[in-house]
Amino acid sequence: MSKEKPAYRRILLKLSGESLLGDLPFGIDIKTANSIAQDIKEIHDLNVQIAIMIGGGNLFRGIRGTEAGMDRASADYMGLMATIMNAIALQDALEKVGCDSRHICAIEVKAVAEPFIRGRVIRHLEKGRVVIFSAGLGSPYFTTDTASALRALEIGADVIFKATKVDGAYSADPVKDKSAKKFMVISHEDVIKRGLQVMDTTAFTLCKENKMPIVIFNLQKQGNLKNAVLGLDVGTKIF
Ligand code: UDP
Repeated sequence: MSKEKPAYRRILLKLSGESLLGDLPFGIDIKTANSIAQDIKEIHDLNVQIAIMIGGGNLFRGIRGTEAGMDRASADYMGLMATIMNAIALQDALEKVGCDSRHICAIEVKAVAEPFIRGRVIRHLEKGRVVIFSAGLGSPYFTTDTASALRALEIGADVIFKATKVDGAYSADPVKDKSAKKFMVISHEDVIKRGLQVMDTTAFTLCKENKMPIVIFNLQKQGNLKNAVLGLDVGTKIF
């Protein structure tokens, strides 16, 4: 057993659909899925209970459909379907590295996933199974960030880990503004006061009102996920 002590008992890891892109312009890069699964296995070995909310932006976002004239609800349902494909790929990758997992989908797809039943999900986590949530909240007009916030609260997660392509929350866009400063620690209130965009407003408000801590970090840097779980200085901590 590992001597390293995790800083959290139960986490909700938000993976954007883009995290599965690898070098592809669109779709699912299986090698990247396998590498993420390996990172997850590392923290699973620390006995952390892990629930993952998977996004769908690598395949389809509702907004893309509405911009092209689609009805919003129909477009969002397509976005939801995209998250289900990602969840299947991620579950496959997790099984390959020896992580027992359960796919929980917010809309009914009996052939591949279980429905969301809160008590059952908590039981899976207690038994050491990695839980993958797909289809967000199962309703249009939401994002998987909002679904992450709600599910994290429902399952009693200690923290939301928002894995992104940037190192954390900055005072300005670090790509456009070289003087942008990264925040190591910041309160929910200060995020709002400074107008930082870390999650969509609905998601962030839920976290703020319920004092749910958030850690934003770059998943692409090797060791970051594990270091974040160990409570080391990785990315930005919001609490
Ligand atoms: N979506 C939805 N309801 C939800 C979660 C997601 O309708 O509860 C749809 C929405 O169209 C969204 C798409 O699914 O654009 C993919 O989710 P998201 O954009 O959050 O994925 P990410 O940006 O994390 O890859």
